[in-house]
Amino acid sequence: MRRHGIDCCIIDRLDAPSPYSRALGLHARTLEIFDALEVLPSIRKVSRRLKAVSVYGDKGFLLELDLTTLKAPYPWVLSCPQSEVETVLIDRYRMLGGELIRSAELLDFRQDGRGVEARIRQGSDVQKLQCELLVGADGVGSIVREQLGIGFNGVDYKEHFLLADVLWEAPWSNDRSHGFLQEEGLLLALPLPQGWRLIMARREPPTLPLSLALFTERLTSILGEAPNLGEPRWLSQFSVQRRLAQHFRRNRVFLAGDAAHVQSPLGAQGMNTGLADAFNLSWKLAFYLKGFGQGALLDSYEQERRPVAEKMLYGVDMLSRASLVKLPMLRRSRDSLLKLAGSRRNISSRLLRTASQLNVHYRNSPLVTYGPEADVGWRHQGPLPGDRLPDAALKSVRTGHLHQLHGLLRKPVHHLLLQLSESPEHNERLVMYALSERLGQEYRESVHLTVIAARATADDDVPREGTTRIWRDHEGEFASAFGDKGRLWLMRPDGHLAYRAPVSNADDLLGYLRRVVGKANS
Ligand SMILES: Cc1cc2nc3c(=O)[nH]c(=O)nc-3n(C[C@H](O)[C@H](O)[C@H](O)COP(=O)(O)OP(=O)(O)OC[C@H]3O[C@@H](n4cnc5c(N)ncnc54)[C@H](O)[C@@H]3O)c2cc1C
Repeated sequence: MRRHGIDCCIIDRLDAPSPYSRALGLHARTLEIFDALEVLPSIRKVSRRLKAVSVYGDKGFLLELDLTTLKAPYPWVLSCPQSEVETVLIDRYRMLGGELIRSAELLDFRQDGRGVEARIRQGSDVQKLQCELLVGADGVGSIVREQLGIGFNGVDYKEHFLLADVLWEAPWSNDRSHGFLQEEGLLLALPLPQGWRLIMARREPPTLPLSLALFTERLTSILGEAPNLGEPRWLSQFSVQRRLAQHFRRNRVFLAGDAAHVQSPLGAQGMNTGLADAFNLSWKLAFYLKGFGQGALLDSYEQERRPVAEKMLYGVDMLSRASLVKLPMLRRSRDSLLKLAGSRRNISSRLLRTASQLNVHYRNSPLVTYGPEADVGWRHQGPLPGDRLPDAALKSVRTGHLHQLHGLLRKPVHHLLLQLSESPEHNERLVMYALSERLGQEYRESVHLTVIAARATADDDVPREGTTRIWRDHEGEFASAFGDKGRLWLMRPDGHLAYRAPVSNADDLLGYLRRVVGKANS
């Protein structure tokens, strides 16, 4: 919200980020979001890069998923404690002028047509806070969700989970996660920036007080010798549930993160999904508050994010059940399927793209669309409206410097990419100059134009730059991700494609912009 210049205030009843980190794994799509927020370098400083996931069954090795094969700018998982993620994000938020009030608890709120009035308690002091919109990112026990009367249906898992963060000279490589799906039960060994996180699942509740004894016993059976585990920095137990809020919005109040969806930590999706909720929602709230677009913009948050959360919950549930299954026959079938997945490139790459959230799309959203002459048969080239925009290397026509497309599109506005065909026709040049003028006049603050020339276009055929920067496809990366025809690609501030059409549909595109990012009352 601060990137969009909106005044906002976070209230948190904790007086500091928790020193214990629940979430750990940051996936490839989240790293792109962090890149857009300009926090990725700080996050990388306090993270460990994980390149693969290895899974073992009763009879040894089952599969390895190689994260570096992902087609993405950051093809890894970063192991980064949630407390560090929070600290980095809060620093950035404050740098942008955001206000954070700690030790402040939301007691209740009321909303009407004009705004929201929240009652906040700080110590013995209770104050009223007026705001236009309220987002409940207040976790699984969300008071915001409760007060809205929104159902949170789902199930509790029977298993009990134990967690230990320890220093340990493990006999395994610490550039990957290790999962042991054996008869004795599930054990995960996840590298931390320093040390390891061990998680095990059991049917019986652990005896208290918690100790490392169960981990030592389990690791001894895996390794054939007792591990020399250091003092635990954190020992904890937790149970797991799967729940989805019936709605993510009621009028001026929204739900995001665990307040809207909660699931098993296997697959490391919870925090990543919550961050993606916030990235989807923030530009819509900002546009609404600036008077751009219409009610459809706010409606689209639930329309886009709830199906994503529902699908994610289903996937994580399947993964959790498969990891925890006890019956020998089912375990054998599971292990055969995992072996098959590991040996088939197309299956493992699909699994990886899903887990890394690069596959998340909003194709069914009413907010995204095609132009009337869009060329999208079943063998279409390039992303469809609602898809995440792929990255590609580009070369500046003016300076010859190389840049990544994502890096050029960081500013939180809509970006229109005008892709010229290899031999740009007269009409394409006219559209380029006309769009450059119209966008400059009517959408200077909200839509930026970037022109991409094909790799093979002769220098003399590349239009003159004028006020619009022109980039040339470098090594054909853009054409391989987007196809090679002249097209208009409109990217939203959250990196998803809003609109796709041939260059000849420029008038229709302007109509779309008027509806979605035009001043609501003009
Ligand atoms: C063991 C474990 C491991 C996990 N590992 C991963 C992982 O690797 N990757 C991943 O993506 N996810 C993981 N998760 C899930 C992840 O931890 C959660 O999805 C994530 O913390 C949710 O963030 P949130 O901000 O929505 O909620 P929370 O982290 O619960 O934060 C809610 C905030 O709201 C504040 N709050 C609550 N009520 C009020 C109130 N009334 N007034 C003011 N403030 C209030 C709280 O103080 C807190 O700061 C894991 C979970 C567990 C249990």
